[in-house]
Amino acid sequence: MRPTWLEIDLGALERNCAQLAAWAPDAQLIAVVKANAYGHGAVRVARHLLERCGVRRFAVATSGEGAELRAAGIAESLLLLGALHPDDAADAARHGLTPTLVTLAAARAFAAARPGGRVQVKVDSGMGRVGVAPAELAGFLAAVEELGLEVEAIYTHFAVADEDEAETRRQLAVFLEAARALPRRYPLHAANSAAILAGLGTGLDFVRPGVALYGLPPDMREAPGLEPVLAWKARPGQVKRLPAGHGVGYGLTYRAKGEEWIATLPFGYADGFSRALSNRGWLRWRGGYAPVAGRVSMDQTTVRLPGPVGLDEVFEVVTPDLDERTSLTGRARALGTIHYELATALSPRLPRVYLEEG
Ligand SMILES: *Cc1c(COP(=O)(O)O)cnc(C)c1O
Repeated sequence: MRPTWLEIDLGALERNCAQLAAWAPDAQLIAVVKANAYGHGAVRVARHLLERCGVRRFAVATSGEGAELRAAGIAESLLLLGALHPDDAADAARHGLTPTLVTLAAARAFAAARPGGRVQVKVDSGMGRVGVAPAELAGFLAAVEELGLEVEAIYTHFAVADEDEAETRRQLAVFLEAARALPRRYPLHAANSAAILAGLGTGLDFVRPGVALYGLPPDMREAPGLEPVLAWKARPGQVKRLPAGHGVGYGLTYRAKGEEWIATLPFGYADGFSRALSNRGWLRWRGGYAPVAGRVSMDQTTVRLPGPVGLDEVFEVVTPDLDERTSLTGRARALGTIHYELATALSPRLPRVYLEEG
């Protein structure tokens, strides 16, 4: 096995799922497993949520992601998020996905590919990204149903659920008002992770948690009740002693100040360890930290150590906590981004090891 790997704690995943279900007791979960379940591995994550948390609905971002789950034997409802493009209608239909319709062109293409198929319709309640305008909802639904399609639910998405409760309430009100004006009642959903934690939209038929399932705090600060699911570990391929003044890595941007020990670890930016961590990132090591020394390269990263270690030494590249230096959340803050980006950048080439309870 490759000497760097991700450890995914399925017990923690299951506890997060139970916690989210408890926060939205009247809603069913649509578990968001797009982008390879935020890097955690969509097939194993979906299967575990299905078997151990009773999740019956999943959401993906692309028909390819849906196809992967279907090929693994997941037969549950798969909602395809994002505006269905007419060019994608045949694939979505072939894999039995439930597309999100916001244009008539896509509705026609999907109706041709799967007559009588199930679809969902998205409303733009303020985010300005995907969705039909509230005033056009009734007409759009009538046109979709006229094509023979079955509208399974109507949903919207919040723009600032993690930072502005008043605006989120306003979006929710716009959405509910548009739904109330319809000639019949449709199942509704709106809440992403941040909204579930804030208790907004949790009284509707479904909720759509993503990041919180993986134990990451939606607001990048803290999330009592959630446990990060993923750790990343590595063993060095070489540990070397360098004399004072010796350079390290591309560009020789680091030079040993005295005699120094450098461990060369077998991962790099191609695995999702950002090159921006060159000379400024940290790994967790023996309860403390090892600083990145030199540039992160595509497949190798060098860290400075106080002395030699063996090739069986384990370094923690990502810790399953909120550590400022080594967690996905803390590191994202240091890099000026969000943990969503760091999690989804974890390359498929990293082996994923799934830890079952016990
Ligand atoms: C990604 C996504 C979600 C999940 O969002 P989190 O913030 O990860 O909970 C929910 N709904 C839609 C439409 C999404 O695109």
